[in-house]
Amino acid sequence: MKYQSPRGTQDILPKDSQKWQKIIDVFRKHLEYYSFQFMEIPIFENTELFQRSVGESSDIVNKEMYTFLDRSERSLTLRPEATAGIIRAYIENGLSREPKPVKLWTHGPMFRYERPQAGRYRQFHQIDVEVLGENSVSCEVESIFMLYHIFIELGIDFRIEINSLGDLDSRKRYKEYFQKYTKGFLDDLCNDCKTRYEQNPLRMLDCKVKADQEIYAGAKKPYEFLSDPSLKRWEEIKTLFGLYKTKEQREIQNIVTNPNLVRGLDYYNDFVFEIISNDEILKGQSTICAGGRYDDLVEHLGGPQTPGYGFAAGLERLVLVTKGAISRKISLTLLSNQSEVFILESDLHKESYEKGFKLNIELNYNPANISKQIESALKKNMDYVLFYLDDERQNQKITIKNLRTKTETKCSLNPKDIIDSIIKNHENIKA
Ligand code: ATP
Ligand code: MG
Repeated sequence: MKYQSPRGTQDILPKDSQKWQKIIDVFRKHLEYYSFQFMEIPIFENTELFQRSVGESSDIVNKEMYTFLDRSERSLTLRPEATAGIIRAYIENGLSREPKPVKLWTHGPMFRYERPQAGRYRQFHQIDVEVLGENSVSCEVESIFMLYHIFIELGIDFRIEINSLGDLDSRKRYKEYFQKYTKGFLDDLCNDCKTRYEQNPLRMLDCKVKADQEIYAGAKKPYEFLSDPSLKRWEEIKTLFGLYKTKEQREIQNIVTNPNLVRGLDYYNDFVFEIISNDEILKGQSTICAGGRYDDLVEHLGGPQTPGYGFAAGLERLVLVTKGAISRKISLTLLSNQSEVFILESDLHKESYEKGFKLNIELNYNPANISKQIESALKKNMDYVLFYLDDERQNQKITIKNLRTKTETKCSLNPKDIIDSIIKNHENIKA
């Protein structure tokens, strides 16, 4: 093969695209219930936007960005995440003057130069959600409840881990403590952590190297350094999630605190969370959704002081662990050599649409060899073949052949009757 897709990219083939769409549809449905509005942002932005928002000390800016000069020598970067672009658009388009909170979401491809493996790609897709202008803990609590129901609906086996990093003051005190604690171990740490020690010591807790983790295990945790306002918030959140009740009394039972949880981006404060799949298939890449609060980012990017909160879910990882809830459509081949069939086909679509189910019709006009067509329909996993040929036209009846049970029925030409007959037939098979 001469041409192959670039390393770390993949094609989403028709056999997987139904699941892919289903995941987006489930998110869309729940996000609309919670009054989120959809928006699109560019795939590339000025490089500086990501340097400033994601942060110079993050892995993304340090080693994962796809950055290039365009023909006018401007430095542009393929978006590694969506938050920065949404905030840029929020400020630039005056959304900051709209009544708060402004609740936005988007989905699409992101780009990071990483080592490809199962669940980790160089072009991957996220569903990204942001709430701007809401200071109360409702962002945290609502979003976790919503995500809980989304992942249950998708049939995923997961757990939710939460933590608080504290406000600027808390993090400053922790940073001082943690630098002192780790100073004596510096020579034993991985190279990444040596850099993090200077730039952003909090991120050392996120290190994946086991030996480093063992060193950090003996240190105090960020929650022990929370300022009074941060502590109050954290206690309120834990109470609202029922973490002071017994597990059985909680609405959400698979939620736990993880005092080591910090996020890979620089802009978070106070609440952070990760939703982790328990499925073996993802191994080291088991985080399917992650996010937190970022109260300084909008101002940091030149907008008015605005509290922020957001999260992103990775579609490729979700596709790998989504088990249930794939609604089966009914698909059929319509075989006909009669010119009225085009009207019949569009009437059937209209009727099925009104009945609220999806009908996929593949029309085969003027078929040459009927038995070959049936064979091909079987290969394509069709549910039915409908015949409207000379005989059917003469008798003003349509023939419906069920490819699973191999039974044939006749039906009037009325599209409503045809749809009713197919639905009834289909329910009988399912039962
Ligand atoms: P990780 O620790 O796995 O690298 P991250 O902290 O870099 O994740 P975020 O920036 O928080 O990830 O992105 C949110 C979600 O997007 C992740 O939980 C994951 O599901 C997905 N994601 C991130 N990077 C990739 C990638 N390279 N390929 C596929 N999905 C990804
Ligand atoms: Mg990463």
